[in-house]
Amino acid sequence: MSDCLFCRIAAGPHDAGVLHSSDRVVAFRDVNPQAPTHLLLIPREHVASVADLTGSHDGVLAEVFEVIRSLAERESLDTGYRVVTNVGVDAGQSVDHLHFHLLGGRALGWPPG
Ligand code: 5GP
Ligand code: ZN
Repeated sequence: MSDCLFCRIAAGPHDAGVLHSSDRVVAFRDVNPQAPTHLLLIPREHVASVADLTGSHDGVLAEVFEVIRSLAERESLDTGYRVVTNVGVDAGQSVDHLHFHLLGGRALGWPPG
């Protein structure tokens, strides 16, 4: 999907904003951070959103959450963090390549807007 922004980011070249890159998962800093730590984790494979996940994605999802755990530790998010994935227009999904936001470094309000 050469017209997909996150497929292009996954393909590289990677700059300093990329914190993790494996065969299956890439993690990088959000260009417009909403918290002191605001990272995005994506599968390399183009999947539009969690609505398109199947059992074949079990492995990549497990890796996403392993990487979340290790990056939260690396970013010293000792007092908590939030993992968010938006699906569709009502949720404000603006990039149609599955991504998980990892937000932390400040108290996060609830409910979200
Ligand atoms: P969504 O609104 O789809 O849940 O999240 C998309 C996120 O991608 C937004 O937080 C936005 O700031 C981020 N984003 C959009 N374009 C780029 C980009 O070119 N590079 C990076 N690092 N983040 C981006
Ligand atoms: Zn894509």
